[in-house]
Amino acid sequence: MYDVTIIGSGPAGLGAALYLQRAGFRVLIIEKEYEGAGQVEKGVRIENYLGIPAISGYELGEKFRNHVLSYGAPFLEAEAVALRHKQHWEVLLADGKTIESEALIYAAGAVPRRLGVKGEAEYLGRGVSYCAFCDGSLYRQKTVAVVGGGDAALDDALYLSNICGKVFLVHRRKQFRGAYTTLKKIIKRENIEILTEIQITEICGRKKVEQVELNNGNRLKIDGLFIAIGSIPETEAARGFVQLDESGYIRAAENGVTQSEGLFAAGDVRTKKLRQVITAVADGANAATSATEWLRHKLEQEGK
Ligand SMILES: Cc1cc2nc3c(=O)[nH]c(=O)nc-3n(C[C@H](O)[C@H](O)[C@H](O)COP(=O)(O)OP(=O)(O)OC[C@H]3O[C@@H](n4cnc5c(N)ncnc54)[C@H](O)[C@@H]3O)c2cc1C
Repeated sequence: MYDVTIIGSGPAGLGAALYLQRAGFRVLIIEKEYEGAGQVEKGVRIENYLGIPAISGYELGEKFRNHVLSYGAPFLEAEAVALRHKQHWEVLLADGKTIESEALIYAAGAVPRRLGVKGEAEYLGRGVSYCAFCDGSLYRQKTVAVVGGGDAALDDALYLSNICGKVFLVHRRKQFRGAYTTLKKIIKRENIEILTEIQITEICGRKKVEQVELNNGNRLKIDGLFIAIGSIPETEAARGFVQLDESGYIRAAENGVTQSEGLFAAGDVRTKKLRQVITAVADGANAATSATEWLRHKLEQEGK
């Protein structure tokens, strides 16, 4: 029986583990990937984590994990498939085993939604990106395309237009779902060209992205493609114990408190404005602090 089980060893889960270990709690971290450190490992080059000017995502993930390991936190390589709550929280694992703890931090993250076209996987990190804030600066004065029609795509196009020479905004529908105020700014930007009712059918190049093919038979010559069609939060295992927002993220504020007593959500999996390493780590620390207060209060009430 643990004090706190953490599901997910991405930046949020590891941030939470660090705070809880240091506070003297018995913690178990469950992670489904072998020595995984979350999406951060997929970042070719991380340049926006304060204090570390540039590092590969894999190396940063390793640093996070080793920092937590130095406090002796145990990791369990397993997939959490469901939760149960009786007197304590129980995490049901894919191999049929169950882990018990007083509190739970759910930090299972999210995965970027794929466009599903030829060349997407092949050119990931070589011109294809799912994060304008992460990789935009690599395309200074270059030509890029953003694909999508929601707030993320509009924000990305606007952000990139400050860095890049030219930005194509490609959307498969006629109308954008994102905020009209942002769209108005985009229309005024001279270096953004909007292409509606158009789909990208293939990403091509030699060693890196050089162009995309469109379903109208045309091609766009670009240096980078930013796919901004949303992400899929990993909420399945928490089903029934959390409320989800309209996009499927767990409704929880910065303190991580959910609708279920003793269950806290942290990182990309929760409703938030900015999904980045720095905000995930901060979420982990906040959720750990909430869990600490909740556990101390519970122990006091039980006279322990
Ligand atoms: C390609 C790419 C590049 C990026 N570049 C940057 C960048 O340059 N700068 C930046 O700040 N951010 C970047 N990001 C975003 C950043 O990586 C995320 O915001 C951050 O990793 C979120 O952390 P998290 O811990 O909330 O979730 P995640 O990193 O998604 O970690 C969640 C972990 O939970 C595990 N998990 C999920 N479900 C289960 C389950 N059922 N049982 C057990 N384990 C489970 C997953 O395997 C994963 O390891 C990038 C993201 C991507 C995809």
